[in-house]
Amino acid sequence: MRGSIRLFSIFGIAINIHITFLLLLVLILPGGLRSLALVIGVFFFVTMHELCHSLVARRFGIEVREITLFPIGGVASMSSIPERPLHELLISLAGPLSNIVVVGLFFYPMRYLLGDAVLFHSLSTATWPLTLGYIYWINLALAAFNIIPAFPMDGGRILRAALATRLGWIRATRIAVNLGHIFALIFAYFGMVRGHLMLVAIAVFIYMAASREEAQAQIKETLKKFKIHDILPSEFSISDYNPAEEETKKKTPPDIQKGML
Ligand SMILES: [Zn+2]
Repeated sequence: MRGSIRLFSIFGIAINIHITFLLLLVLILPGGLRSLALVIGVFFFVTMHELCHSLVARRFGIEVREITLFPIGGVASMSSIPERPLHELLISLAGPLSNIVVVGLFFYPMRYLLGDAVLFHSLSTATWPLTLGYIYWINLALAAFNIIPAFPMDGGRILRAALATRLGWIRATRIAVNLGHIFALIFAYFGMVRGHLMLVAIAVFIYMAASREEAQAQIKETLKKFKIHDILPSEFSISDYNPAEEETKKKTPPDIQKGML
C-alpha cells in the first residue's frame, strides 16, 4: 500500500506499517517506555487479528498479499470479495474471535498471579508486571470495537452475511453501510462534545470507509451483469491466447482491494 514501509513477511503475507503510525509514536513518546510497550502490544494484537482474517480467507481461495497497520487499526488487502455469505461470515468472525480467545486465556491466570490491580491501573501508576493487564484491555477493546454491527467493522460484514441470504447482497450492504454512517455520526458527536480529536478522526474514517463499501458492492454487481464476451475486444480470437501470459495474470490478480479492520 502506498505510503507504507514493509516490516517483515509471515505465512507469505507482507506486514506493512503506514507512515501515519509514526505520528502515533511521536504522540506517545512523552509517556515513556510503558506507553511504548502499549503501542507494541497494540501492534502485535492487531497483526494477529488481521492474520486470522487472512488465513481463513486463504482457505476459501482469496489471496492476501499484505497487511497494513494504521494507528487506528489494520487493513488486509484481499484479491477479491468473498462470493458466499458463509465465507464472509467465517472470515469476519476469525479476527474478533482471536481477540476473545486471548482475553479468555489471560483473564484468570493474570488475576490469580497479580490480583485485581492488573486490570485497573493507569499508565502512570503501573509497575512492569502490571503492564501485562494491557494484553487484556487491548484484546477486549479490539473485540468490542470490531463486533459493532456496522461497516467497516467486522460486525458489519457479519451482519451483511446474515442479511444477504434473505434480502440479497445489495440491500444487505446498504443496511450495514447506513449503520456505519449512524455510528460515525454518534462517534463524531461524542468526540466534539468531549473534545476528543481522536474520536472525531475515527468517526471520519468510519464514515468514509462505510461509503467505500457501498461503492465496491455496486461495482461488483454491475460487473456481474456483463457476460464475459461483453468485455472482450471483438477481434479477440483463440490464437491470441497465450498460456504463459495467462499464468502471470493469475499470479497478479486485479486490484480489487478489500479493507478489513
Ligand atoms: Zn477484523
